[in-house]
Amino acid sequence: MGSPLLSGVPTLDDLFAAHPDGDAVVLVRADLNVPLADGVITDDLRIRASLPTLRELVVHRHPVVVCSHLGRPDGAPEAALSLAPVAERLGQLLGVPVTLAADVAGDDCQRRARKLEPGEVLLVENLRFDPGETRNDDGLARRLAGLADVFVQDAFGAVHRAHASVEGVTHHLPSHAGRLLETELAELGTLLHDPPRPLLAILGGAKISDKLTVLERLSQHVDAIAVGGAMCFTFLVAEGHDVGTSRVEPDQVDTVRELVTRARARGVDVLVPTDVVVAATFDRDAPATTVGVTDIPPDQMGLDIGPATAEAVAGAVTAARSVFWNGPMGVYEWPAFSAGTRAVAEAMAASGARTIVGGGDSAAACRLFGLAERMTHVSTGGGAALELLEGRDLPGVAALRHADPHH
Ligand code: AMP
Repeated sequence: MGSPLLSGVPTLDDLFAAHPDGDAVVLVRADLNVPLADGVITDDLRIRASLPTLRELVVHRHPVVVCSHLGRPDGAPEAALSLAPVAERLGQLLGVPVTLAADVAGDDCQRRARKLEPGEVLLVENLRFDPGETRNDDGLARRLAGLADVFVQDAFGAVHRAHASVEGVTHHLPSHAGRLLETELAELGTLLHDPPRPLLAILGGAKISDKLTVLERLSQHVDAIAVGGAMCFTFLVAEGHDVGTSRVEPDQVDTVRELVTRARARGVDVLVPTDVVVAATFDRDAPATTVGVTDIPPDQMGLDIGPATAEAVAGAVTAARSVFWNGPMGVYEWPAFSAGTRAVAEAMAASGARTIVGGGDSAAACRLFGLAERMTHVSTGGGAALELLEGRDLPGVAALRHADPHH
């Protein structure tokens, strides 16, 4: 994989070349941050995505120590956010027992790590039970490094954060990219560097302020942009429409207007909705009607793009050779307002283009509609994918590039 994002980044192949006998204990930072409901995993995609790296390490007979965060505990143990259910599911999927340490690189963890046999797997307890994780504390980084001989970064969903298990630890161990990280950087890298054109970006979701930087950057790079979700109403206001009680970010209207003007002047096709699905209240069962964007009633809010807009976006997908999508087109969680998001996912699934879904809610929507398998790539990291497309060097990736593989 020749992505420029990967240049200078040591991979698992380098690790296997340096340790042909599987004699190194390997610390893997994975992203096992799965959704839980009453202690039950409701979507194990992130665990599955971490399997290729772990399988290869086990097959090469390396003792493996895995670490991850789960949810947002406040730097202290919280029983409901223990990685226990993750250890169990990981063991089932990997086909080898996974032991869970009682602490985050503390005495119990160190003792268990020392006793690991070739091909055995130990899981460190939730990294965010330790306040040092998010602070990138060097003490925690050293304790994590003390568990192993080599470090593998595979948590794409976390590489945009300079945390102890992401950045700090790389100062103390030879460090490599895992297979998931490699795939993510290769797929997203293709979008940034020499994508098959036309390149279409479809952006939706709740807040435009979250996505302004990526919009700005993409609008200089893509051939077409389509907008939907709550953020399209700020675009509609910028074009002079009344949008009723739809969600608008008034302080972004001028910025959006300038962005659209500049993009169009450059020849970028900017698709703003021509029709929307509206309702009187933000409610799953609120009666829904479709109206043109010039006819949004003053007491109604837009909760999805309309069928004519969905067809136009689908047409743009068909015409494209690369498509990047981030953010649902409407409140896809509610059936009455999911048609626009479904139409985009279906058009992408049916197209022969390189189709990249940028994590978060759009990835969840693809899985909900059973279409995830039909995309070229569904990213496991929404925030990280967007920061990468903003052109930023992510701290967890930069750390691998700068780390001395021979230490
Ligand atoms: P984001 O996390 O920014 O990608 O936003 C995803 C959320 O935006 C989803 O939970 C959607 O239900 C919500 N959303 C999409 N379209 C709308 C809309 N028109 N009005 C309000 N919320 C929306």
